[in-house]
Amino acid sequence: MRYDYASDNTSGVCPEAWAAMEAANRGRVPSYGDDAWTTRAADMIRATFETDCEVFFVFNGTAANSLSLASLCQSYHSVICHDQAHVERDECGAPEFFSNGTKILLAGGPQGKLDPAEVESVVTRRSDIHFPKPRVITLTQATELGTVYTPAEVHALSDVARRHGLAVHMDGARFANAVASLGLPPKALTWQAGVDVLSLGGTKNGMAVGDAVVFFRREFAREFDYRCKQAGQLCSKMRFLAAPWVGLLEGGAWLRHAAQANAMARRLAARLERIHDVQLIAPVEANGVFVEMPKSLADALMARGWKFYNFIGERGYRLMCSWETTDAVVDEFAAEAEACARALA
Ligand SMILES: *Cc1c(COP(=O)(O)O)cnc(C)c1O
Repeated sequence: MRYDYASDNTSGVCPEAWAAMEAANRGRVPSYGDDAWTTRAADMIRATFETDCEVFFVFNGTAANSLSLASLCQSYHSVICHDQAHVERDECGAPEFFSNGTKILLAGGPQGKLDPAEVESVVTRRSDIHFPKPRVITLTQATELGTVYTPAEVHALSDVARRHGLAVHMDGARFANAVASLGLPPKALTWQAGVDVLSLGGTKNGMAVGDAVVFFRREFAREFDYRCKQAGQLCSKMRFLAAPWVGLLEGGAWLRHAAQANAMARRLAARLERIHDVQLIAPVEANGVFVEMPKSLADALMARGWKFYNFIGERGYRLMCSWETTDAVVDEFAAEAEACARALA
């Protein structure tokens, strides 16, 4: 089986993260985050965002999302997200679990992006005591459909949030891809656009394991260390969660890898688009290609050993690129797709 397009987490650890892990694997240092690697990684994240944010390192994105949402909510609150959102579809109820019952409310919007007017109507639909009180808007950047919110689009959502006293959370499992795509400073997509808390993805960017929680509004970070510990998310050998961030951020490897993944997605899309019967579902703005194709074509590719996932409906498929995807792998897949399509025509 070829797992090149199944997900961006089928790839390995990038050399920069690996080298940093190796460098961290020397000597004995304090545990539970009281070490120099953890301090340095947090400082580098603060420098990257050009603000004095609070930073915590956890093992994965589900923990980053659900614990940060829990820190923003009481159990009687609700969180508004897109109906395609990872927090709704792919976290097994962890946000509800860790917040002791906070309800998730769904809103729509084209191409995986929340529509501010829809969000506002969800927020204002009810204001009585019988309905869970809206408390947070969470948006995914880059989105689950491989699109990217512009700063103006993030602003429009945070405006709705501010008008109604809500906080703004960003699921940035692929935040690096969004930054590389827009070519803007990370602050322009986050705190300057009204984001209060960010789940910053490391795993899909090239780390072995680990995501970070970045609180731009520090008051929301109160006692977050206890929340992490209770949830089993306080790493005792924290230097190994922290050091890869140093490797990725130092010298800009995080953005180089994200840009590579994005470029490969664009290259793949350009080839696939030329095939009759293959249509893009959403513009390719990050590292995912979302296409509609006949099931027979997808089946033929899978029979040739390419693993990738059906995403929306019978004809919708998702092809993810990573920092490790090369021109050659794209061209190989595209040539096979062309051959399969010809054989089926
Ligand atoms: C991968 C991903 C996550 C994190 O998932 P984990 O498996 O918990 O690391 C979160 N949000 C989105 C949109 C993702 O694609």
